[in-house]
Amino acid sequence: MVERARLRQLVATLRQQSVPALLVTHLPDVRYLTGFTGSNAALVVLAGERTSARLFTDGRYTAQARREVQGATVRIAPKSALAEACVYAAERTAMCGFDRTQTTVASLANMRSTARKGGAASGFFKPVDGAVSALREVKDAVEIERMRGAAALTCGFYEGLLGWMEAGMRERDIAAELEHRARLAGADGMSFETIVASGERGSQPHARATDAVIQRGDLLTLDFGIVLDGYCSDMTRTIAFGFEGGPVPRKLQARWAEQRAIFDAVLAAQEAAVAAVHPGATCGAVDAAARSLLTAAGWGKFFSHSTGHGVGIEIHEAPRVAKDQKHLLRHGEVITIEPGVYVPSRCGVRIEDTVLVTADGAEVLTPVHKGWLEL
Ligand code: ZN
Ligand code: ZN
Repeated sequence: MVERARLRQLVATLRQQSVPALLVTHLPDVRYLTGFTGSNAALVVLAGERTSARLFTDGRYTAQARREVQGATVRIAPKSALAEACVYAAERTAMCGFDRTQTTVASLANMRSTARKGGAASGFFKPVDGAVSALREVKDAVEIERMRGAAALTCGFYEGLLGWMEAGMRERDIAAELEHRARLAGADGMSFETIVASGERGSQPHARATDAVIQRGDLLTLDFGIVLDGYCSDMTRTIAFGFEGGPVPRKLQARWAEQRAIFDAVLAAQEAAVAAVHPGATCGAVDAAARSLLTAAGWGKFFSHSTGHGVGIEIHEAPRVAKDQKHLLRHGEVITIEPGVYVPSRCGVRIEDTVLVTADGAEVLTPVHKGWLEL
């Protein structure tokens, strides 16, 4: 099973760093390493002379753990799974790594006092950040297949939605219909809260759907994604609500023209950034490909976020595709490319694809129409 290979890879990295054991509590990491999808788990990976992995969960998950867990033994903890995991580690190793970025202050205090009861010396827990998230950056064949599936399903119900949407609807109606269609198409859920932003609300990059009614002459930004087989999709499209082939009313002409100019600049930036994706490219270079075009077009100061992010089991994961990021893209990484321009109290445009880094370039996993579209 693929989980065993992932655990072996983790053991190899831990050994390189002379870390004899790792406590994994971040659930997406636990899922990645063992296949377990329950909501309570602590995994101890021993990487010394004898390697092993033991997953601690509670009685609600007895059957599920037996069915799902690969490559690790399972212990159903009558009290706290985390506490048992700490004692287990303390009894078997002199030092144990943990991910500081996924551990609360309260939880660390708990871990320390429990491990002391198991005989651990002070300093038993040592921060080893991102060991699993670094492995998760490069997707294996199984993951790529799942991400393709999630992306294809997303494109499918989005296309269906285009034939249904029209001016006069509320943002809320569109969010509800989109999520309803996603579920009917087979999605396990949405990967984040659907963003539906029309007109001047489009200038807020993360606007939630409201009662605002879509008017002719508005742009509409839809940013949404689903979870399928444990993997997330992420896509943004901006569409225009036009005048059904008729003339643009005089009082809207300037606004309409400005929106089109912004849209064209964002589309060019998005395509340039996708074209810049290849193994060996830095994330900073991909960001610069988008940012430099928007700056040249005069919209740079309205591009207020980074160009993209890794996506996989989580909607936001490593790497960050942002200014000056030195991370080198590798074959098998999946990132988003999503430049946007947000002009306060006027409008906003964002276009986002999920992109797989291939052996010699990039493959867009969300290849549904992204050019100017008037409904
Ligand atoms: Zn998105
Ligand atoms: Zn995104």
